[in-house]
Amino acid sequence: MDFSLSEEQRMIYEYGQNLSKTYDRKHWMEHAERCAFPEDMYQQVATDGFVGVMVPEAYGGSGLGMMEMGLLNEGLAEAGIPLLTLVIGATMGLSLISTYGTEEQKQKYLPDACAGKTRFCFAITEPNAGTNTIRTATNAVATPDGRFKINGAKTFITDASDADYMIVVTRTTSQDEAKRSTDGFTLFIVDCKAKGLETHPIPVSIKIPEVQCSVFYDDVDVGPEDVLGEVDKGFKVLFDAINPERILVGFICAGLGRYAMGRAVEYANDRVVFDRPIGAYQALQHPLAKAKTEIEMAALISRKAAWMFDKGEPCGAESNMAKFAASEAACHAVDASLQCFGGNGFTTEYGIFDIYPMARLLKTIPLNNEMILNYIGEYVLGMPRSY
Ligand SMILES: Cc1cc2nc3c(=O)[nH]c(=O)nc-3n(C[C@H](O)[C@H](O)[C@H](O)COP(=O)(O)OP(=O)(O)OC[C@H]3O[C@@H](n4cnc5c(N)ncnc54)[C@H](O)[C@@H]3O)c2cc1C
Repeated sequence: MDFSLSEEQRMIYEYGQNLSKTYDRKHWMEHAERCAFPEDMYQQVATDGFVGVMVPEAYGGSGLGMMEMGLLNEGLAEAGIPLLTLVIGATMGLSLISTYGTEEQKQKYLPDACAGKTRFCFAITEPNAGTNTIRTATNAVATPDGRFKINGAKTFITDASDADYMIVVTRTTSQDEAKRSTDGFTLFIVDCKAKGLETHPIPVSIKIPEVQCSVFYDDVDVGPEDVLGEVDKGFKVLFDAINPERILVGFICAGLGRYAMGRAVEYANDRVVFDRPIGAYQALQHPLAKAKTEIEMAALISRKAAWMFDKGEPCGAESNMAKFAASEAACHAVDASLQCFGGNGFTTEYGIFDIYPMARLLKTIPLNNEMILNYIGEYVLGMPRSY
């Protein structure tokens, strides 16, 4: 077994540190404060070839895998500049098009998206269905001319008002009519400026650069050319996006935890109270040492999940464990780091408390940690379903 990174992987992992020399945490926070997407930073990431990490070279990407996408995200988070768009749009969106798209769809969407000219968002969550995606009510009804009309509503769709295209999860057959509850789903690629599609920003307490939106669909016209995968068989397509999303959360949380701890160690070794650097006090050292251990364990399982994904092996167990372990570890790491800063931890000048919301968010999204534990209990341990 070889745990070392190749030279290329190390370069990808270190990209975040290099990028942060131009687009640093301060730049990220300024955009987060205004909820303004950092176009310049994203454009640089695209120009440097990192938006299309997982897209085949023939369509403008780098043709690399989940491990490289993970390392990219881990490195960005470790530099304090995580980008959710790279998870939702670049990984979930573009990878699905690379795998399930028709040749026309690949030609139409992938090269521009890899070049940063267009962005994708991904619309699953609905106000009433919540975590229970089976209850998706946004429907796409076939019209006599072979097209579809989408009606319904989605909520918390990241980047929806700024992105160019949206992958929308719909039902083309209602749950009552479908043979199995997972039948009857269809994914569509929808132009965010389509007639009948409206987005409204949701004011959120968390400071991140990406806007969150409610989306309403009123007879949005789409055709067979917009179907991603097959009509009524979209659940399988959706499922293929879910493990990558969880794996990436693992990588991002590992990076965020390291970023917080890096800042804390530097401060604790420097700050002298009672004639000694506060880093000498075990009350501060042990929580950081524990958090460091948790973060490295979480990083390991995230890398294992990515490695399995790239080999085409089933990786549901590892993806869920990575998401759970890393989001919990990141919160512990930020908390332990915050304590080192005393009152300064709560100031905007030091910006340590500012790391917490993102780490905490990732315990709830893309799937709350309770459902992650439900999965592990049911599918990994073989225990009865609890809900
Ligand atoms: C900043 C942000 C960005 C987001 N981006 C996107 C996006 O781009 N696209 C998208 O589609 N969605 C997005 N979401 C939505 C997100 O995925 C959901 O909010 C999340 O999955 C939880 O769903 P919910 O809010 O409906 O909570 P609910 O389903 O109402 O659940 C509430 C709580 O109940 C508990 N719970 C629910 N069911 C169970 C159960 N069976 N067992 C135990 N506990 C349970 C959990 O603790 C859960 O947190 C985003 C949300 C936020 C806040």
